[in-house]
Amino acid sequence: MAVLKTNNLTKTFGKFTALSGVDIEVNQGEVYGFIGPNGAGKSTTIRILLGALKADSGEASIFGMDAWRDAVDIHKRIAYVPGDVNLWPNLTGGEVIDLFMKLRGRVDKGKREELIDRFNLDPSKKCRTYSKGNRQKVALVAAFASNADLYILDEPTSGLDPLMERVFQECVGEVKAEGKSVLLSSHILSEVEKLCDRVGIIRQGKIIETGTLNELRHLTRTHLLVETNHPVDSLDKVAGVYDIKKSGEQLSFQVDSEELDQVIRYVSGFGINRLESAPPTLEDLFMRHYDAEGKKTNSGAGGES
Ligand code: ADP
Ligand code: MG
Repeated sequence: MAVLKTNNLTKTFGKFTALSGVDIEVNQGEVYGFIGPNGAGKSTTIRILLGALKADSGEASIFGMDAWRDAVDIHKRIAYVPGDVNLWPNLTGGEVIDLFMKLRGRVDKGKREELIDRFNLDPSKKCRTYSKGNRQKVALVAAFASNADLYILDEPTSGLDPLMERVFQECVGEVKAEGKSVLLSSHILSEVEKLCDRVGIIRQGKIIETGTLNELRHLTRTHLLVETNHPVDSLDKVAGVYDIKKSGEQLSFQVDSEELDQVIRYVSGFGINRLESAPPTLEDLFMRHYDAEGKKTNSGAGGES
């Protein structure tokens, strides 16, 4: 069942088209990764879903209600964390958490204390003194302490250190285990790869790919490293092979997933001594999409940040 759905969302700012025909769908109990580089349209989509921005055309609904018209009812059941949290400067972190929790109605004091502890937050400080990372923690504690049905998290971990990133990932796993749904936007692929059931990739206001990680992996290439008894002839003539590199006895290259079988057969004709393979990562997929020439260059170590 779809908890959140957009249909052909379009949004322009003056002459600039920020979204054109965006379709995303988050099902009950699912973590959906909304992936794209800065400026792709993630936050604009989310602001429409929150009822903070009106779409030019198309539909956005949450729990079967209209995101714009029924925003008040929808907000009782969602928790939202933006990437850049602004808080009331004169309240303490603890006061802000309490305020958020009261707004959402369902207060769980025990959960609040547990999360403050896990995120290692000092709730007694005035918000004006918090670093960006600490402001994120305040918003995350407030979100995960509220018993929401849907968590909308827009690059929520910007500013968190790796240890806290881990805590965040655990929290997402826990709400998912409770059957809650999560929309998680990110340009950090490693984060998404671990957490998400499905991803949608957005680029310049258009969804360019959507599916489970397994489905999208078909679009990417497997990395192979082989050592053979006899030098491999004419590998560059074999269909689906790219980026051949030779170093001593070792040959490394990439293979389109659908050609893997015949490539392995071909190479095994030269007597395989050693074979290593690495599955394609989401990072590779992303790099392929964003490479202007559509050619893979390397193992995708670069990435956006
Ligand atoms: P993302 O969250 O993926 O980084 P955004 O949705 O924030 O991207 O922005 C998408 C594009 O829309 C960007 O080019 C941004 O500059 C533009 N944009 C967003 N909000 C506004 C606005 N209020 N007025 C004009 N342009 C905007
Ligand atoms: Mg954004």
